[in-house]
Amino acid sequence: MVSRVIPVEPFDLVIFGGTGDLARRKILPGLFRRYCAGQIPADSQIIGAARSEHDATEFRAIVAEAIREFGGGKACEDGTLDEFLQRIDYVTVDARGDTGWSELASKVRKDLINAFYFSVGPGLFGDLAERLHRYDMADDDSRIVVEKPFGRDLATAKALNASLAKHFDETQIYRIDHYLGKETVQNLMAVRFGNMLFEPLWNSQYIDHIQISVAETVGVGGRGGYYDKSGAMRDMVQNHLMQLLCLIAMEPPAKFDPDAVRDEKLKVIRALDPVEPHHIVRGQYGPSADDDGFRTHVGDPASKTESFVAMKIAISNWRWAGTPFYLRTGKKLKARTSEITVVFKDAPHSIFGAEAGRHNNELRIRLQPNEGMTLDVTIKEPGQGGMRLVDVPLDMSFAEALGPNVAEVPDAYERLIMDVIRGNQTLFMRGDEVEAAWAWTDPIIEGWQARGEVPKTYDSGSDGPTDAMAMIARDGRIWREIKL
Ligand code: NAD
Repeated sequence: MVSRVIPVEPFDLVIFGGTGDLARRKILPGLFRRYCAGQIPADSQIIGAARSEHDATEFRAIVAEAIREFGGGKACEDGTLDEFLQRIDYVTVDARGDTGWSELASKVRKDLINAFYFSVGPGLFGDLAERLHRYDMADDDSRIVVEKPFGRDLATAKALNASLAKHFDETQIYRIDHYLGKETVQNLMAVRFGNMLFEPLWNSQYIDHIQISVAETVGVGGRGGYYDKSGAMRDMVQNHLMQLLCLIAMEPPAKFDPDAVRDEKLKVIRALDPVEPHHIVRGQYGPSADDDGFRTHVGDPASKTESFVAMKIAISNWRWAGTPFYLRTGKKLKARTSEITVVFKDAPHSIFGAEAGRHNNELRIRLQPNEGMTLDVTIKEPGQGGMRLVDVPLDMSFAEALGPNVAEVPDAYERLIMDVIRGNQTLFMRGDEVEAAWAWTDPIIEGWQARGEVPKTYDSGSDGPTDAMAMIARDGRIWREIKL
């Protein structure tokens, strides 16, 4: 099977914050890989715009270095990098002043698709949106791309939405959650809504519970200052885990259309019950032999910020009443994995007797590493007398199943940037979704603050605090192992 790469229309993309970490690690190497794949027309233009003083030649050197360091992809031929660099320009711009704006305006071609990537802190979003209009660069067809964090609570998210809405219509705003750009996440929709097999069983009658685990091995690294004000709840649950929960739990949209999908996701968030305090465990990694621990990393010996959170969530609607969702995410855990496990109920009656044991089906959806899905089915243990049962995986590793002819799968950022150019908002969060997610998150965080709660300490390289195991064990269930 050979997949087709469909080129997009020629475009001008301005990357505000083009010299920053995100641009160098993800956006620029991603654009290069799409160029190598033949998806970016030669007459497109990518303009870096940031506060640092550079000319176009210096910025091209920064771009070339970033591509060398963060991956150029396999499909690139010699000379392609030089060709790509010809499409790169740079303007020194101050988001809060007037420097550079007229020059930038003279470079952006209004007769092409134009998109403006705000790869800067959210404090600058309003300034950029306002100046794009003041300098007559944006029109009704322009797109703006904004990064997380989109607010730190409902009030700040509303204020950000309002500052963008003054200058751009909702159909022009692309709020990135890169989890939605992952191939497996999109496959979740394909598996659910493209097959007859799963959807009839996709409810509380047949599903015992669902687990979503996003585990990291790294600590807060150089982001200590930011992270101490954020914590796992704001940094991961409110956005990434919430988006995964929505795609797993939503009703089938009538069509694969941005608003149809986002309407269904919004309904899930609005159906979430408030979370009881005893259904949440917060953790913080302590010092270990090779690590000074969270509090040293964030520079606050009394920090009460969580680097881990596990919770039990209930969705109050017909489909899910009685089926809990267990969410868990943390830093400094024993492996880096993101996995969703759908645990089906036991068969109602075993015809094979007690010695065959109890077995149930599990669908595991791996986001990383090795994107793919595994369905455990129960079969007879081969070669054994009698009827002993065993669970074996029906493995759907995408790379193996699709074979060597499939085009290199674009990473999440590549996919999402191309969707911006195509004008497809399906995999981007709508303003009301983000606000609804904060409206659910805020009381949880306010409760911790009001009670002065201190997170439980856990060891680096572990599964997190033992209280998280105890929480799920009270329901007679266990977390699926965090492993590669
Ligand atoms: P960074 O500090 O590395 O880069 C910031 C960029 O903004 C620089 O290019 C800087 O020149 C530019 N800038 C700052 N003030 C400016 C001004 N007044 N006018 C014009 N340009 C200005 O930050 P980053 O890590 O690249 O993050 C950018 C945004 O993306 C942030 O909102 C961050 O939260 C978000 N984000 C980053 C990552 C990541 O992996 N780095 C991941 C997800 C989201």
